Amino acid sequence: MEYKTDALVLRSADYRENDRIVTLLTAERGKVSAAMKGVKKAGAKLNFASQPFCFAEYVIAEKGGRNTVTGASLHDGFFALREDIAALYGAACVTQACDLLLYEGMTGGDLLVSAVRALGRLSAGEGTGAVVAFLSEALSIAGYPVGADVCPVCGKLPAGRMRFDMERGIFTCNDHSDGVPASESTYRSVRAALLGEEGTEEGNIRAIRLLGAYFALKTDSEPKALGEYLRLLAPMH
Ligand SMILES: [Zn+2]
Repeated sequence: MEYKTDALVLRSADYRENDRIVTLLTAERGKVSAAMKGVKKAGAKLNFASQPFCFAEYVIAEKGGRNTVTGASLHDGFFALREDIAALYGAACVTQACDLLLYEGMTGGDLLVSAVRALGRLSAGEGTGAVVAFLSEALSIAGYPVGADVCPVCGKLPAGRMRFDMERGIFTCNDHSDGVPASESTYRSVRAALLGEEGTEEGNIRAIRLLGAYFALKTDSEPKALGEYLRLLAPMH
């Protein structure tokens, strides 16, 4: 059986002399692994579609439980990522988060849209704000929404020192929960991302650190790319 699907390459691994195995985030079937034969040969027509971050319409042949990519037509290769190390590390956070969030059988349409948007923003030089927005969206899609609105205890907008409740994924005033300490700039950056606005660079970096910890806790996984991205952005911490 052969089918067409929009998909993003989350991972690509060399296999045999001339082949690669790609891990795709597909719109209809979630995460799909597929072989790409001969793509390492000089002049291979489908080489582009075996590269990380490639977003294309893939033709996938399924036989005996094995998938093989037989065709692809490019939507966007996000080539600008290769020219900006921070953007490239940010993009790796996006694809790794998708990889960790998707379990077998989960469809990936919303996550694909969100990831493609984030890679587009990173390619356009938007940086940390794009990663904060993506993490907030991805966590919400996975069933762990993040809130940065009024404190649920007193109904006021938290200010100054505050806390982030890791159970509920929301910010509260400093004395209104026993969550982890969080700064106002972190809160403002998460709030800005949820409202489609831009936070400050410092707040965004803090927000990525906080959302990364929340992600790790909720998904019981280790998003290593986030740690590497943070070390690149803020080596002093
Ligand atoms: Zn409160």
